[in-house]
Parts: sequence; structure tokens; C-alpha cells
Amino acid sequence: MAATVVLHLQGIRKSYAIGTPAETEVLHGVDLDLARGEFCALMGASGSGKSTLLNIVGLLDRPDAGHVLIDGQDTAGLGEAELTHLRGRAIGFIFQYHYLISAFTALENVMMPMLLERGRANEAMVERARALLDQVGLLPWQNNRATALSGGQQQRVAIARSLALRPSLILADEPTGNLDTKSADGVFSLMRQVNREQGTAVLMVTHNHELAARCDRIVKLVDGRIEAPGAPT
Ligand code: ADP
Ligand code: MG
Repeated sequence: MAATVVLHLQGIRKSYAIGTPAETEVLHGVDLDLARGEFCALMGASGSGKSTLLNIVGLLDRPDAGHVLIDGQDTAGLGEAELTHLRGRAIGFIFQYHYLISAFTALENVMMPMLLERGRANEAMVERARALLDQVGLLPWQNNRATALSGGQQQRVAIARSLALRPSLILADEPTGNLDTKSADGVFSLMRQVNREQGTAVLMVTHNHELAARCDRIVKLVDGRIEAPGAPT
């Protein structure tokens, strides 16, 4: 596996409610490669399995079959502790509903991944979190609780948090789905800027065709598979 491939998915299959009458296969063999620094939009009808796929790529759920390689490392044989470590080191997450901790300040939220990875807080962590908040334009709001920020600001904090451990891949599930047009544009532009400046690959679920058109590539999930490139839409 070339080092320039951040994500390699091969033959990913996933069913829910296995062994019950409600058993349904959502993903029927998904193949996808993402290059280092590539910004890819993932589109597809509601219920087509986009979130299921992101959870599998994010090592939050396991496929029934197929291979997930992150930075060239096959995750199939890894135990929970190793998956957690790889997830923390290589992958950043941004969700539609930010999942910030509402009782924590912006600064504390950005520090969370570092605290989870390394245990106790130290001055270097605080400095890193401040630098990240500065990067997303929120340093003056560092001591605001998450609930005292606008939706767009909260999503910027989520972006800063996702970058804390310098991931090679960011997974974003409808990160602008809950925002007005102007905030959505600002959040997307920030993600694109981070992607260009730091070479972080991004896989972003979106229903927004204008934003998707500003990505390097659009892939579409149709009937549980990635639509063949070049196929008519
Ligand atoms: P999307 O994100 O594209 O809207 P999802 O991945 O959320 O699609 O869901 C794909 C399909 O899998 C849907 O039919 C959904 O109802 C089903 N599904 C998702 N999660 C679960 C679950 N935990 N248990 C059972 N079915 C699920
Ligand atoms: Mg979804």
C-alpha cells in the first residue's frame, strides 16, 4: 500500500439486525481509496448508508466483511485498545450536531482529544488548543462555554478539536447540515483551508451540491455501493 493512500476500503459489507426478520444489508461491497490531502464529498440519498460507512471508516463500528486500511495499516486484526489508539492518532471527527461538551469552555473542548490520549492536562496542551482556536478565529471566545457560542462557532470549535492530534483523515458527517447558508460557507471554507494548508484528507457527507462542487472529488453511494466513476448521474 503506497504511503500516499490515507484510506483504502475494499469490499465493505454491513448488515443490521442480523439473524432477525428485519435483517438488511446496507453496504454491499464498498470500495474506495482516498489519497493524502484529498477532499472528497460523499453524497447519496437519505438512508443509503453514508453514516454507516463513516462509522466503519472511523473505526467506531466493524464491517461484516471487507478491509479498512488507515495510513496503510489493516485494521481487521486490531483489538479495541489498538483501534482506539489508531482512531485517536489518525482520525478527526466532525458531526452535524457538534457533540461539544456543553458545560466545557471552547478551550476545554479543544483539549479533550489530547486529554483522552495523554491523561493529565499540561501547559503544552493549553498552548496547542489556543493555537487551534486562533486558527479557526475563535481565540477571543476561548473561555465561552459551548452553549454560549453560535452554531457556526460551535462547528469551528469542533474543527479545531478534530485537528488536535494532527490526524491524516477528517471524517465529517453533514458538518454544515444544521447551519444557515453563510455559516455553512464559512465552516466549509475553513475545512478546505485546513485541508490545503495541512494536507489533511477529508471525507465529508453532504447534501449540498454547491459545497460538493468545491471538493476535489464527489463519490456517490447508490444501492449500497460507490457509484462507478464516470457513470451518468
Ligand atoms: P444515511 O446516513 O445515508 O442517511 P444510515 O447509514 O444512517 O444512512 O442508514 C442506512 C440504513 O441503515 C437505514 O435504512 C437505517 O435505517 C439503517 N440503520 C442505520 N443504523 C442502524 C442501526 N443501528 N440498527 C438498525 N438499522 C440501522
Ligand atoms: Mg447519515
